[in-house]
Amino acid sequence: MVALCSYETTKLVRIHSVRLGSLKWTLNATVLLFICLVMLWNRKYQQFDQVVSSVTAKVKGVAHMQLPGEGGVIWDEADYSGFLQSQKQGRCPEPPSSGRRCQHHSDCERGAWDQRSHGIQTGSCVKFDALARTCEVVGWCPVEAKNKPPRPALLASAEKFTVLIKNNIRFPAFNFIRRNILPEMTESYLRKCRRANDSLCPIFMLGDVVNRAGENFSTMAVEGGVIGIQIKWDCDLDHLTRRCLPAYSFRRLDQKESNKTLSPGFNFRFAKYRTVDGVEERTLYKAFGIRFDIMVFGQAGKFSFIQLIIYIGSTLSYYALTTILLDWLIGTSCYVAEEGQNYSERKVESIPDKKECILCVSYVDEDDIRLVKMSRKKRLQDAKSIGVQARREDIGHMTATLCLLTEPRSFPATFSQPCSSPPPSWCKCGGCSASPIPQEELCCRRGSEGPCVASSALFHKLSLQRTLLEALILYREPFTPTPPDGAALRRCAYRQYVAWRLGEPPADCRPAIPRCCVTRIREAFPSPGGRYGAFALAKHAAT
Ligand code: ZN
Ligand code: ZN
Repeated sequence: MVALCSYETTKLVRIHSVRLGSLKWTLNATVLLFICLVMLWNRKYQQFDQVVSSVTAKVKGVAHMQLPGEGGVIWDEADYSGFLQSQKQGRCPEPPSSGRRCQHHSDCERGAWDQRSHGIQTGSCVKFDALARTCEVVGWCPVEAKNKPPRPALLASAEKFTVLIKNNIRFPAFNFIRRNILPEMTESYLRKCRRANDSLCPIFMLGDVVNRAGENFSTMAVEGGVIGIQIKWDCDLDHLTRRCLPAYSFRRLDQKESNKTLSPGFNFRFAKYRTVDGVEERTLYKAFGIRFDIMVFGQAGKFSFIQLIIYIGSTLSYYALTTILLDWLIGTSCYVAEEGQNYSERKVESIPDKKECILCVSYVDEDDIRLVKMSRKKRLQDAKSIGVQARREDIGHMTATLCLLTEPRSFPATFSQPCSSPPPSWCKCGGCSASPIPQEELCCRRGSEGPCVASSALFHKLSLQRTLLEALILYREPFTPTPPDGAALRRCAYRQYVAWRLGEPPADCRPAIPRCCVTRIREAFPSPGGRYGAFALAKHAAT
């Protein structure tokens, strides 16, 4: 029930630091700038739709060429260059490259054919040329010879042909229609515009297209090839920045090196049929040419509130980079070492395992209380602190004590330095004595040498003044038998020290009292047998 009706939230630490604060805002501003730039550059606030298109092309141009055997011909359409060969139905030998070589009629099989043959075998073996005999076939004769394409290409003048590309596009999601012949283009514009000086002109010279694809028209025309004309539409349909223009780019699509690829370039065959004296004849053309593939792709974007919200949501996590960087900075020594340690200790609250004993220590030369893990072997003075806490004043105790103080303003600033000769190496105050137990080896000072807290007048007043301690014991337990024994006085003196120096000790944590103070208290209220509790930890424990 408690878990149901509760809400957990994160507790934060606020560090008042001009440097960290300005660094935080600088980083956040950088992230914000980056997010805004990406949003504007990639139009992340828009909803996109893909293009649907249709393309037609119209080639214009006139070329004159000499076809072997047919004389001069005028061509006025696409670019063809190649061979022609007159053929009739009949019997003829296969060329050795595609047919079967033979010695006798029995080597040939009547009616057989395969994918490379030009006709059906008759079953006889005939002479192909002076060197070879091959199987005879029935089909169009003579069989097409395998020739290399003519150089230079027959229709090299097709370089000057022009092609008008008509491209209609549509973005169904936005019901938007457009052509690459823009509304402002007039007929006279189309008559004289050229790609070279106008990137929007829809009329292309074939040679220019091939050049822009990085090829040479006359070399490419020999074996043929495929050139891709890409039309890219990237439309911004928002009213403020309305912009929807085609961008043309060109690229060769087939493999360029003819000696490295099988069946290079681009070619095709076609035939013209006629009847001469009742016998059907045909002229077979093998054409090498350049094919143009027109590809249209693109997208259109329009402002969409949902897309904007989604984009903003997806960028929020980038602000965590600031936190990660600053946390790393205050966790490492990059930032001022002493401050860094302070921050990371205060940022993390250590919660001890039940078995572990955590001691809290107060030093005269520090404001905060340090938490230290108790170790059986290590000297308490050298133990590494696992946390730092602010001192919480035990107000009630302090008020009561001050009321009990007699003549509050008459005591001197310091008492004589307690003499203990010589002080052990870990002692910084000069008042500590050596102890066989490492947990007792704690000085009242951490870093700097200076006067001992046990030599202060207030220590004497609070922890060593018998009348005050007796009054305090009675204040706590009014029916204590008077006078209280040494153990009760020592316990009360320790409690006084703790309330004075540590205030209210943090939960789950036992206060530790420096060796110098323990020594002074034991000197003031000695145990008759010289026996003391093992470890002078106040609260309720030892004596
Ligand atoms: Zn000391
Ligand atoms: Zn001391």
